[in-house]
Amino acid sequence: MPQANAKLNAFPVFMRVEGKAVAIVGGGEEALAKARLIGQSSAVLRIIAENAEPDLLTFIAQNNLTRVAVSYDASHLEGVVLVFAASGDEALDRRVAADAHRLGIPVNAVDRPELCDFFTPALVNRAPVAIAIGTEGAGPVLAQMLRARIDQMLSPSLGSLAVLAASFRSAAEKLLPKGNVRRRFWSGFFQGAPARAVEAGELSQAHDAATDLLLSNAPASGHIALVGAGPGAEDLLTLRAHRLLTEADVIVHDALVPEAIVAMGRRDAERLPVGKRKGCHTKSQAEINALLVELGREGKRVVRLKSGDPLVFGRAGEEMAALRDAGIAYEVVPGVTAAFAAAADFELPLTLRGVSSSMVFTTGHDLKGNSLPDWAKLAISGATVAVYMGRSVAAEVAGRLIEAGLSPDTAVAVVENASLANRRRFHGTLADLPSLEARADLTGPVMTIIGDAVAGANFERSEPLGAHRHESAATAAAVGVEQ
Ligand code: SAH
Repeated sequence: MPQANAKLNAFPVFMRVEGKAVAIVGGGEEALAKARLIGQSSAVLRIIAENAEPDLLTFIAQNNLTRVAVSYDASHLEGVVLVFAASGDEALDRRVAADAHRLGIPVNAVDRPELCDFFTPALVNRAPVAIAIGTEGAGPVLAQMLRARIDQMLSPSLGSLAVLAASFRSAAEKLLPKGNVRRRFWSGFFQGAPARAVEAGELSQAHDAATDLLLSNAPASGHIALVGAGPGAEDLLTLRAHRLLTEADVIVHDALVPEAIVAMGRRDAERLPVGKRKGCHTKSQAEINALLVELGREGKRVVRLKSGDPLVFGRAGEEMAALRDAGIAYEVVPGVTAAFAAAADFELPLTLRGVSSSMVFTTGHDLKGNSLPDWAKLAISGATVAVYMGRSVAAEVAGRLIEAGLSPDTAVAVVENASLANRRRFHGTLADLPSLEARADLTGPVMTIIGDAVAGANFERSEPLGAHRHESAATAAAVGVEQ
């Protein structure tokens, strides 16, 4: 809430400039910055610059602008609706401002607020939707910061959605009574199927969805987004994931997703933890599938948050099948999978020219049978192997790979809590890997990466796995684990 006595000294308005002339006086960087800003509108730009710098000349040529290439004269302002004095020359800018005042044309003088009739905003442009941020010259840095924040909250396709909305406005006014019913239509339009279709680039589908919404009085249909929350660090969430979170009615999340990410949802969104961590009350996969179907049928907008990427060891296949069978709309939003976060933490090239040109995502839990799975063969041929949920089968993985012919000296990198501040890194060889199983000190999720490419990682901030061999034997003995 603004303070009671806080009045704006500059009041924002949206001025019609379509087809109108706007003049910029100046040939340097400041003039180019203004040309870029006004160039986002359909005004006709006139650049008055006896001498223009190369970047400005390129911009003028690329955008087909008019340049008056003689020294400035008041007659150049004829017929313009706005003037920018952006020459960088104080005397000239003052002259331009004085001429503009005399002619009754609003003027903006770069970096001279005392000469300005108006200020230019920091602009979030989703034409025809515009968000203009002004600070009355107090802080361009602040304005840009706000601009960046607002920009990432809004879908890139918001403009197309607004155009579609405009084309439905008169029909909605004709067919729907004013008040609740009309409001419900618009909220379904902007948050439901039409908006989602625009987002997906399906304009004709969006049109059909909006028509359906207009003609039927059916309640909004539900939608489930299977969203990757990334490996743990909040700022590794994608912008799309963040936006869907802030729009969701219900957030259904796994235990591995940090609280800080779940908390990005609306305050009044319902939050349903579905567990999958030892010791917590957890729902079975069938129960989760049924829950998603039920929420979809209730018309809810649901974000199903999974750690990492939803399609990597996330059982998304089963959830999608259940939603498909029930005829409930869904989409998938990728996330940064744990292997990528672990590799980044180690500066580890997952593919390395001449060393490794393929990559395996595995759990290692399929090594128990008699035949070697195909991925083990890939490992032997030089693929980089990322082992998910591999801590409890570390000895099995190492043993079988060595048995199959992979050198015990093959490099191994292990990260606990990849991407998070409390991450721990370990490095060693395949021969050291079994020591992981007995470590009681690793309580977070653990990613293991095996392969020759691992040798290209940065081990400066990691502890040797082997160093723990004796210690872990002692720990194991203490906690009664067999080595
Ligand atoms: N869908 C997730 C994987 C879920 S399986 C993804 O794409 O990342 C859970 C396993 O992922 C854990 O046992 C662990 O091996 C790995 N994992 C998840 N987050 C991790 C993290 N921050 N650091 C290390 N490993 C992680």
